[in-house]
Amino acid sequence: MEFRAMRRKTQELDRESTAEILARGTSGVLAVAGDDGYPYAVPLSYAYDPERNRIVFHSAKTGHKIDALLHEPKASFCVIDQDIVEPQKFTTFFRSAIAFGCVRIIEDESEKRDAIRLLNRRYAPAMPQEAEDKEIDAFWKSLLMFELNIEHLTGKEAIELVRARTPRQ
Ligand SMILES: Cc1cc2nc3c(=O)[nH]c(=O)nc-3n(C[C@H](O)[C@H](O)[C@H](O)COP(=O)(O)OP(=O)(O)OC[C@H]3O[C@@H](n4cnc5c(N)ncnc54)[C@H](O)[C@@H]3O)c2cc1C
Repeated sequence: MEFRAMRRKTQELDRESTAEILARGTSGVLAVAGDDGYPYAVPLSYAYDPERNRIVFHSAKTGHKIDALLHEPKASFCVIDQDIVEPQKFTTFFRSAIAFGCVRIIEDESEKRDAIRLLNRRYAPAMPQEAEDKEIDAFWKSLLMFELNIEHLTGKEAIELVRARTPRQ
């Protein structure tokens, strides 16, 4: 299927700036097809893996989002980079990214360990390897890792931010 183009082209960020949003962020909202047609949008921590064009998550093995993903692996993930409210201008100076893709639960044990290490390096980069392994082992049995393979990625910012960078817009 063809993903939609952004209507306001001037506000569209290039791939590099969009990837930077994913790399900078520490949380986002995963949108999945929930129960009885209700979309389920759930906030999650994540690690962006540009080399494999994927986003990695950790989770418990059961629950609403896992049930939803087992039923329908297509999902999207939104990260808000900035949201500065400008009351005088009736707007906010926003910047955000949205990734669409299919989610895969990581079953292979060595892939699972690589994925949790990726997350750990994002959130606790100074943790020594030994302490990291100990922490991972403590949660290993109850830990589920999944990845969203990015098929479509867009970034957008407020027109005021575009104008500030390129005064002719
Ligand atoms: C900034 C942030 C980062 C987080 N990072 C992670 C992470 O990396 N991994 C992780 O597993 N969880 C994380 N959480 C918690 C996450 O949002 C979910 O609560 C959790 O993953 C359980 O989801 P579930 O669908 O299995 O919950 P279930 O308990 O099965 O959901 C049942 C119902 O509970 C309600 N519910 C669930 N979660 C929330 C919520 N966060 N806020 C309000 N209502 C809710 C919904 O109505 C949902 O339908 C994070 C939350 C925040 C705010």
